[in-house]
Amino acid sequence: MKAILVTKHGGPDVLEYTEVADPVPAEGQLLVDVDCVGVNYIDTYFRSGTYPSEPPYIPGTEGCGRVVDDPRGEIAPGTLVAWHDAPGSYAEKVVVDRNRLVAVPEGVEPEIAASMLLQGMTAHYLLHGVRETTAGDTMAVTAGAGGVGLILTQMAAALEATVYSVVSSDEKEHLAYEAGATKVFRYGDSLADDIIAENGGAGVDVIYDGVGNDTFDFALNVTRPRGLVCSFGSASGDVEPFKIQELNKHGSLFLTRPSLTHYVADNDEFLMRAQAVARAVDDGTVKMRIHPPYKLENARQAHEDLQARKTTGSVVLKV
Ligand code: NDP
Repeated sequence: MKAILVTKHGGPDVLEYTEVADPVPAEGQLLVDVDCVGVNYIDTYFRSGTYPSEPPYIPGTEGCGRVVDDPRGEIAPGTLVAWHDAPGSYAEKVVVDRNRLVAVPEGVEPEIAASMLLQGMTAHYLLHGVRETTAGDTMAVTAGAGGVGLILTQMAAALEATVYSVVSSDEKEHLAYEAGATKVFRYGDSLADDIIAENGGAGVDVIYDGVGNDTFDFALNVTRPRGLVCSFGSASGDVEPFKIQELNKHGSLFLTRPSLTHYVADNDEFLMRAQAVARAVDDGTVKMRIHPPYKLENARQAHEDLQARKTTGSVVLKV
């Protein structure tokens, strides 16, 4: 089969489109014909070696496609399923753990199904796992028009939270408003003060920050005393070491650096979040925005654009 292979750590150019052997399902796994693959920022951390990975490997963990064969005979061949977490998803075929997939609701397009789980479940655990969101909560969201950002904003708006979204361009500002942001801001020195002024002089209850190093000081400054700084990503690089006294100085802040892995470690928790996301997409609570899809062989371009902040919403590869 054709697949993208990473043979050494590096920039997007290490993503090679090549011929590899078909994967073979182990006990508890199904073989799936991949239709579309979800591309996520975390794929770039593994590719560059920022997160541990051992080349050669096929990147990607989520997607959507049709079951070829279920050795247990429980799922009919041809059933359309979406999955996370199946390493090696940037390929024509992948083996998927039967506990890590959901049936795709009828009418949901493959591009959407392929990219809804990782980012959707992330938004779900940020709003319901890290902290339970209730009506009237105030939050700041950086990278507000990215994959996670747009889903998080829509889910939070549906919960009647006030969302201050931070983006870098006019197009992204428009998308963030469309997703239900209360007010959209640009990065800059006065960002924390501007959001606090908009919030009636008080800091926000929680900041969800996927940008990392460039926005960490802002995150500490924009949060109210005893509020939560949720630093869940590092698009601009890892947050530098800092003195925990800073949390005291900024008002007895709470800080977490969570990962989806720990919020779906249990199969029942995975299913609860995955089904909640599929329902939200199916009933229109979440309208997924898909950046114009790339072909599998153009995965390199997809990574380049994602890292150059050129994409909006979710990024997919069509197989
Ligand atoms: P996005 O689609 O949000 O793309 C990244 C965005 O980050 C860019 O579009 C850009 O938006 C913003 N950004 C700000 N500074 C930079 C920079 N220096 N370089 C590149 N991008 C920058 O990606 P995802 O939705 O896939 O992921 C968003 C973040 O969430 C990532 O950090 C990812 O690692 C993290 N994440 C964490 C998870 C967890 O469980 N901890 C799970 C899933 C994702 P703008 O131009 O508007 O600033």
